[in-house]
Amino acid sequence: MERTFAIIKPDAVERKLAGQILARIEEKGFTIAGMKKIQLTRKQAEGFYYVHKERPFFNDLCAFMSRSPVIVLCLEKENAIADWRTLMGATNPANAEPGTIRKDFAVNIEENSSHGSDAPETAAFEIPYFFSALELV
Ligand code: UDP
Ligand code: MG
Repeated sequence: MERTFAIIKPDAVERKLAGQILARIEEKGFTIAGMKKIQLTRKQAEGFYYVHKERPFFNDLCAFMSRSPVIVLCLEKENAIADWRTLMGATNPANAEPGTIRKDFAVNIEENSSHGSDAPETAAFEIPYFFSALELV
């Protein structure tokens, strides 16, 4: 079993797409080990995305991620990290495969509806950024 970290981003929560995204997650066999709705502060968004701090999109991204609530998730499954990335689709919805969350729901490359850890080391940073051990079952 592997765990990954996921976010249903502000654009999707605002448009009331959380239920549809959660249904896809469960249909693909993920177990929801942890879930909560929170609104990130600007500083919390910057800390989460610190690896991108030199990128041109960093400021806009952190403003977007803190503008309204998100749903943060810890998902569990064999091969969870890669399988969640597959279910999300490419970062830019224009390049995402048909039937993926980003193809079907994303507004654009920034407001792309979902986040997923990209490697085990990333998941190991991201899961405890949001969840204590007692919140994961
Ligand atoms: N992003 C953006 N412009 C870009 C690339 C990325 O606004 O040119 C945003 C987008 O919301 C993306 C996030 O920054 O999901 C993190 O980028 P990353 O390259 O890690 O993509 P991801 O891992 O989310 O597919
Ligand atoms: Mg990434």
